Amino acid sequence: ENFPGDFSNNPMQRNTPKVLFATIKPAGFNQPELIAFNEILSKEIGLGKFEDKDLDFLVGNNLPENVKTYATAYAGHQFGNWAGQLGDGRAILAGEITNEAGKKTEIQWKGAGATPYSRHADGRAVLRSSVREYLMSEAMHHLGVPTTRALSLAFTGEDVMRDIMYSGNPQLEKGAVVIRTAESFLRFGHFELMSAQREYNSLQELADFTIENYFPEITSSDSQRYRDFFQNICTRTADLMVEWFRVGFVHGVMNTDNMSVLGLTIDYGPYSMMDEYDLNFTPNTTDLPGRRYAFGKQGQIAQWNLWQLANALHPLIKDEKFLEDTLNNFGTYFWEAHDQMLCKKFGFDQLQKEDEDFFTNWQGLMQELQLDYTLFFSQLQKITPETDIKEHFKKVSYNLLNDQMLEKLNNFIKSYKARLDLNSISKEASLALMEKTNPKFILRNYLLYECIEEISNGKKEMLEKLTKALQFPYQEIYPEFSVKRPSGYDDTAGCSTLSCSS
Ligand code: AMP
Ligand code: MG
Ligand code: MG
Repeated sequence: ENFPGDFSNNPMQRNTPKVLFATIKPAGFNQPELIAFNEILSKEIGLGKFEDKDLDFLVGNNLPENVKTYATAYAGHQFGNWAGQLGDGRAILAGEITNEAGKKTEIQWKGAGATPYSRHADGRAVLRSSVREYLMSEAMHHLGVPTTRALSLAFTGEDVMRDIMYSGNPQLEKGAVVIRTAESFLRFGHFELMSAQREYNSLQELADFTIENYFPEITSSDSQRYRDFFQNICTRTADLMVEWFRVGFVHGVMNTDNMSVLGLTIDYGPYSMMDEYDLNFTPNTTDLPGRRYAFGKQGQIAQWNLWQLANALHPLIKDEKFLEDTLNNFGTYFWEAHDQMLCKKFGFDQLQKEDEDFFTNWQGLMQELQLDYTLFFSQLQKITPETDIKEHFKKVSYNLLNDQMLEKLNNFIKSYKARLDLNSISKEASLALMEKTNPKFILRNYLLYECIEEISNGKKEMLEKLTKALQFPYQEIYPEFSVKRPSGYDDTAGCSTLSCSS
């Protein structure tokens, strides 16, 4: 009965009149069809129980007059180059709603039609990309990684033309809309746009608004307030990168317009969970051969993106030394937090100075033996005195392991056991640390691929199972999902056909 909710609060409209948004209505779709609805999230944000009559709302149909929908303008650096003004090209905001506890959530449709920022594109989204966003953003949430979330997934009833990988052979695909939610969808690019256009008053208003609403930890005033703001964004971003490294997430398109000021994972496009450990892995075919956004580079790229944000905020901060120092500290902070995180994955209670060599050694081993990142840590937790180490880890490798490799593995496990002996916590406590740091279930590309195939064929079993599995990623509720990617799929299974804008 809460649908469509009270959206009288439109944060951007309230605070940045004329410069940062344009009012726009969703296109409207005659034959919407529900695919999935996230009851848990709906309750959490104050939208309540879904009923059939609410289906229209899920694709942006027949909105009451008082819902004033809009899209925002932002700018960005894409693949290292200034791209100028961009904006919500296929996202339309409904505004924000408030739950009983007073918590506010912004809601937007993705794929509900073109906006003034769509340029040549159609503002639509296809089933593939919508399923991928719906499931993965929820998977990340349940893994404990800061992220935007997904409320619903519905067919629009409209077919959309897409040329996969620019083959010159465009095909019709079913259109779909996801409703996604976040405390705020503000990006680095929103600040870059105001700065590039020299709208310094709006830049300041936007910063004030953001601090006031989303950074309660900042209590300072005057220019210190903006210094704290930048420092906070750096910390949140570093923490987010560490989380991506912890679970093996590769974003794929870390352009500054895809970077959340709140430190959320945002814009699920050609992302991927990593199967075999590979610092060079990128699922984004448009990022080859450069691999700018490869798994192992995400920390440095975040820092590069923060440089662009620093430039954008410079008119408010005007203190170059502060900005440079803060950016340099980012590296130190990030690597320290990264190594602390690795410590936990191995069940070590404290970082020791020899650990750096241990980690480097481990990375080499993972890459050479092509061990599955997630399953390696599961296997590590399952070692008993009786375990045949070679057989144990063969199961989680994508390589044919020769004797020399197996010997390296054996030696590594010996060094690991010796390192565990230096722990000052009990064996049980060490295991418990590993259990809560290392997921047992991750949403692999081949699973998404199979799920999308099923939905295309009118079936939902896989969708239902994955929805359940991703809610409990630190358990093994479906053992068949906690295994290596089957042969026949490569490491971008079903994802290699995804460019950014599908
Ligand atoms: P992305 O690489 O997905 O972050 O998108 C870059 C820019 O293109 C953003 O401003 C998007 O809003 C826009 N965009 C992507 N796909 C579409 C689409 N199908 N229709 C309109 N705009 C799009
Ligand atoms: Mg984007
Ligand atoms: Mg996108």
